[in-house]
Amino acid sequence: MRFLYVEEPLLNHPKTEAIHKQTGATIIPIERYGEIFNRHGSHFRLQKKQAALILAEKKGKRVYEIPPSYTIGAKHNYYFSHLLNCPYDCRYCFLQGMYRSAHYVLFLNAQDFMQEIDEKITDEKTTFFSGYDGDSLALERYSGFLETYLPFFAVRPTAELELRTKSHNIQFLLEQDPIPNVVIAYTLSPDPIAQAFETKAPSLKQRLKAIAKLQDKGWQIGLRFDPLIYVKNYQEYYATFFEDVLSLVPHPHSITLGAFRLPPSTFKEMERVKPKEPLLAMCQEKENMLAFAKEEEMLTFCRKRLPQERLYICA
Ligand code: SF4
Repeated sequence: MRFLYVEEPLLNHPKTEAIHKQTGATIIPIERYGEIFNRHGSHFRLQKKQAALILAEKKGKRVYEIPPSYTIGAKHNYYFSHLLNCPYDCRYCFLQGMYRSAHYVLFLNAQDFMQEIDEKITDEKTTFFSGYDGDSLALERYSGFLETYLPFFAVRPTAELELRTKSHNIQFLLEQDPIPNVVIAYTLSPDPIAQAFETKAPSLKQRLKAIAKLQDKGWQIGLRFDPLIYVKNYQEYYATFFEDVLSLVPHPHSITLGAFRLPPSTFKEMERVKPKEPLLAMCQEKENMLAFAKEEEMLTFCRKRLPQERLYICA
C-alpha cells in the first residue's frame, strides 16, 4: 500500500499512527473521504490495481435495516459497514458496480457505530450483519475490527453478529473464547467455480481448513452459498460440493442460498467497467433485477440438497 489518505481530524488518531507504522505508506491529508472515494471520472478496475486506504469518520446514519427476506432466523435485521471495499476481486462482486472507487475506506469512529447498534437492540434477537460492503475479516490486520467489536457483542446476548468472510485470517478468533452470539459465516463455492470466479480470495481448501479450526474451537459457523454461480453442468459441481461441506460442518448455525442478482444501475456500471465479463452476458432482466436465466432451476436444485432446518433463501 503506497498511499494512506487520512481525514484531517484523524491524523493523530492512534489507529492512523499504527497503520502508518505497519504500512510505511505516504500519508495524504484530506478534508472528507468523498473527495477521493467519489471522485468523478474514477474507474473501479484501474484503481483496483493499486488501491489505497482511506481513514475516515462515518457521519450520519451508520446502521441500516435489512429486509426480512435476508434473515438468518431473527425478526430484526440490520447491517453496518466499518469498511467499504475488499482486497479480493471476485468476478461477480457487486461492489465494482456500486462504487466508482476501489480504494478501501476504513471508518475509525467505532464508538458511534456501537451507540447506534445499541439503539436498535431489544429483548428480541436482532442480527447485525457486518460484511455487506466488503469482507468482514480480509483487512483485519489494519482494521482491528474483531478486537474492537467482539467485546461489545459479547455482553449483548440478544444482539447477534454475523461476520461474513472468505478470509482464512482467523488467528485472532482462535486465540479467543468463542462468543455464542457471533457467527462466522463463510461464503463458499465449488472449487472449480471458486478458482474461476473468486480471484485473489483464499481457495476453497483454505476456507474449509479455517472453518474446521474455528469449529473445533467452538465458534458458530454459518454456510453461505450466495451467490450461486451458473455454469454448464452446475449440478455435478454443486451436488458433491454440498455433501463435502456438510460432512465437515454437520451442524451449521445457518445456511443461506442466494441467487446472483443485480439492480439495473449496478449491472450497467459493472458492464461499463467490465464489458467483456461473460457472467454479465448470461443475465437477463426479471422483476427489475438482472439474474441468470436458470436462477430458479438452480435454486430448486440446490435447495433440495441441503438440510431444510436452518436453511434460508435470500431472495
Ligand atoms: S469477497 Fe465479497 S466483497 Fe470481496 S470481492 Fe469477493 S464478493 Fe466482493
